[in-house]
Order: sequence, then structure tokens, then C-alpha cells
Amino acid sequence: MFETLSDRLSGIFDKLTRRGALSEEDVSEAMREVRRALIEADVALDVVKSFTDRVKAKAVGQDVVKSVTPGQMVVKIVNDELVRMLGSEAQGIDLAATPPVVMMMVGLQGSGKTTTTSKLAHRLTTRDKQKVMMASLDTRRPAAQEQLRVLGEQANVATLPIVEGQSPTEITERAVKAARLGGFDVLILDTAGRTHIDEELMAETAAIEKIAQPHETLLVADALTGQDAVNLAKNFGERVDLTGIVLTRVDGDGRGGAALSMRAVSGKPIKLMGVGEKLDALEDFHPDRIAGRILG
Ligand code: GDP
Repeated sequence: MFETLSDRLSGIFDKLTRRGALSEEDVSEAMREVRRALIEADVALDVVKSFTDRVKAKAVGQDVVKSVTPGQMVVKIVNDELVRMLGSEAQGIDLAATPPVVMMMVGLQGSGKTTTTSKLAHRLTTRDKQKVMMASLDTRRPAAQEQLRVLGEQANVATLPIVEGQSPTEITERAVKAARLGGFDVLILDTAGRTHIDEELMAETAAIEKIAQPHETLLVADALTGQDAVNLAKNFGERVDLTGIVLTRVDGDGRGGAALSMRAVSGKPIKLMGVGEKLDALEDFHPDRIAGRILG
């Protein structure tokens, strides 16, 4: 992900840094090219606009053209603004609540919710030494609860025993009770998804939220779905109290720009990213490192 954008930007900046002196026009021209590169990479338009406006304002304010290394100054300003666009500080999963700390995973079907649930459970168990329980609330897809049970076995993480015929809210109540009685530190709820957003999905998600009172509600979004992922964050954000985003398939070769807009458009921090199908293919999202990757 981000390779094409990265190549484009390094082309623009190479040209800029190779020249000694720069005129205002050179900087403006470079900014136009950056703007084009971001739009072509699928970064949301209004995010591109405020990004380039801020870079321009800074470049003028800092008298870039009069500095000894103007090209490098522009690159530094772009880097800083990119980090800002991605959310500045890395924000991890928050465990600071009375156990069981409930986490709810929401998103569309196929976005990687179940995989991310078990990846997160695995990480919390092995790295953070938490006692974790997972529960699937997906009663629509016949094999969903069984899929999570199998993943739990592989990851050595407990799953809520399956009881046929219960509704998602009934399973939620049972899961919270079981996690409390069993002395679990964390309970991760894997909610059902659909192929698209509809009122029923939203109402169900909101009802589960009300019962579970999650400390973290994470939207799992496929980075390869472009602007759809951005709209998803907006839509879910209007109905549930999202605390963060998990971007999946960051190992794929999409344009990546939509992922870059998610934070700015939704106002929610990207907390984690999925970089593969394996259990350990989950990484923290560090805005500065991602910006570094993009700018080479
Ligand atoms: P759900 O319907 O949202 O629960 O989606 P799943 O967790 O079942 O994931 C759907 C598919 O995406 C599975 O084949 C996963 O292995 C795959 N997947 C999930 N996350 C990632 C990721 O970060 N990278 C890659 N390459 N594949 C992923």
C-alpha cells in the first residue's frame, strides 16, 4: 500500500531538492503536483484541499524560498502535515477500565472483523498478559460463531460457548455475564456485518452497544475499498460511539489514499492495522512512521 503515492511524491521532491534556489512559483508548482498525486491516490478531496492549504501557508510563513535548503524545507513541511493528517500521535488500545473491559468490533461483512478480533485477542493475551474472551454475535452467517471458536482454539483464547437460537443482544448479555463471572480482563465482541450499511444493521449495532457499554468500539475497515471505507466511518460514527478504526489489508496494493483520509474525515484515530492473514499480522498505527513510509 502507498507505493504509487510514495513514488509520485519522491519524484516531485527529488526535483525540488536537486535545485538550489526556489521561487514562489516553483513551490506552488510542486504543491499542485502534490495535490494531483494525493487526489489520484484517492485521498478525499476536502482533505487534500486543507492539506495543501496548510502546507502553502506554512511554506510562505517560513520564508522557504529564502532558506539555504528550500527543497528540504518543503519536504519537512509536507511530512509534518502528513503526520498531522494521520492523527499526530499513535493511539493504542485503551485497557484502562474496570474489567472486563469490553471491546466491540463493527464493520461490513468481509472487512476482516473476525480475523482482527482473534488477532487482537492473541496480542492482548501474549503481549499484554490479559485474560481474554471472544464472543461472536453473528447469528446470520451460519458458520460465524463456529469460525470464531476455531480461531480461538488456534490462538489459545477462550470463546463464549455457543448456544443455538439466541439473538445478538441475548448473546451480548450472556457474554458480559460470563466474562465477569470468569474473571476475564477483556471481552471482545465480534458483531455481524452486512455487505452494505442498512438500518437493521445499525439498529442492531446500537442495541448491542447499549447493553455491552464497550470501552472501545472499533470500526474494522478494508483499506482497499477506498472512499467506501471513509463513508463507512462517517455512517457508523453517527450511530455508535466509535473510539477508533482498524484498517485491514494494508498489506494489499491499493492506492491507499482513502485510508489516509479516514482520520481527517471521521475524526476517529486509526489505532491498528492488519497487514496479513496470520494471527500476528496486526500492527499499531504510527502516523509518523506511515508518513515516513510514504515520503520514503
Ligand atoms: P469479517 O466478515 O469481517 O469477519 O471478515 P473475516 O475476518 O472473515 O476476513 C475476511 C477475509 O479477509 C479472510 O480471508 C481474512 O483472512 C482476510 N483478511 C482479514 N484481515 C486481513 C489483512 O489485514 N490482510 C489480508 N491480506 N487479509 C486479511
